[in-house]
Amino acid sequence: MIVRSKLPRVGTTIFTVMSQRAAELGAVNLGQGFPDYDIDPRLGELVHEAMRQGHNQYAPMPGMPQLREAIAAKLDRSYSVRVDPDLEITVTLGATEAIFSSVQALVAPGDEVIVFDPAYDSYEPAVQLAGGVCVHVPLQPPRFRYDWDRVKAALSARTRMVIINSPHNPACTCISAQDLATLAELLRGREVCLIADEVYEHIVFDGRAHHSVLAHPELRQRSIAVFSIGKTLQATGLRVGYAVAPRTLTAELRKVHQFNTFTIATPLQVAIARYLGERPDCGDVLRTFLGAKRDRLIAALADSSLLLPEAEGSFFQLIDYRAISDLTDVEFADELLMRARVATIPLSVFYQQAPPMTLLRLCFAKRDETLDEGAARLQAYARKRNGAAPAAVRPAPSGKPW
Ligand code: GLN
Repeated sequence: MIVRSKLPRVGTTIFTVMSQRAAELGAVNLGQGFPDYDIDPRLGELVHEAMRQGHNQYAPMPGMPQLREAIAAKLDRSYSVRVDPDLEITVTLGATEAIFSSVQALVAPGDEVIVFDPAYDSYEPAVQLAGGVCVHVPLQPPRFRYDWDRVKAALSARTRMVIINSPHNPACTCISAQDLATLAELLRGREVCLIADEVYEHIVFDGRAHHSVLAHPELRQRSIAVFSIGKTLQATGLRVGYAVAPRTLTAELRKVHQFNTFTIATPLQVAIARYLGERPDCGDVLRTFLGAKRDRLIAALADSSLLLPEAEGSFFQLIDYRAISDLTDVEFADELLMRARVATIPLSVFYQQAPPMTLLRLCFAKRDETLDEGAARLQAYARKRNGAAPAAVRPAPSGKPW
């Protein structure tokens, strides 16, 4: 039988490909964004406890009430916003499901969705499966700032949705209050909803504040803000996220959510609600913890010929390799994997039409020894390219799958 693909241009994601290749080659995996260190043991205890106490059957479709209440308290603490846990919060299977279900609920065939390149890879397939069309507005390296004139030009009578992402993956930038004000002005009077992918909300550096759309009264009326428990608790395998939106948007989102994933693992929801109650400051702890990781990676690469653009937020750091190679970023990521045994993520794959650039993304949510080893290998490679005596490539840290 000939299978007619609904997503003919989609292959396996760059994250999965890089992680698989890193594992095969025994490379240090600084590619896919996931921590390689243990979770807080208290979270594990709470999951065990929830299962032992019998929280093992279907949760209510929008999420366990105690988790939605804990999320509402967290949003109040973080952004001084009041959200109705019953009508405005939906617990989802990771942020990816929140985005996917929102797009299926709100985008109709022929509708246009504005995305900003480099765009996270799940946005466009979600739009395509809804029958919509992505209109790509590029953010130009090296600073990746919004060009609001281009956004204005991209808005049309068919625009139904805009998707923003801050802190931004993979550009590592943060949206400013002025950006949100300009966006609000551009969307005023239009039937356009906004998805704000804010999964790295707590990971902002150097005294920055995260500007959530929820704290912008006008944008909030048209927004679905998407968050990630996996990112905040540093346990990406939980696959628990949530969407916060006004009740009319939430009602539509839930129509899809109930037939897409229906409910999210009950013992996890019970445990996460208790954990958030016990550790209300977990976001602040995370910021400090990952700030130190970022600084460690930067220090370890400081005297290499790799340039390090400022990472404003997210748990990624970009490296600019222009001083040591003319290869494209995809070629250079392959070169680093094969010769330095370090997995990274090229940025051009997140563009519809990539501008010339020499940037790779490194994840620093890794154990110190992983960061040190990865940086040592990159340093050794860079020295070799510069003609100095090469340092030997050491084997991967023992006992680790990457
Ligand atoms: N969010 C992760 C990253 O940016 C990837 C998750 C995935 O592999 N789908 O690296």
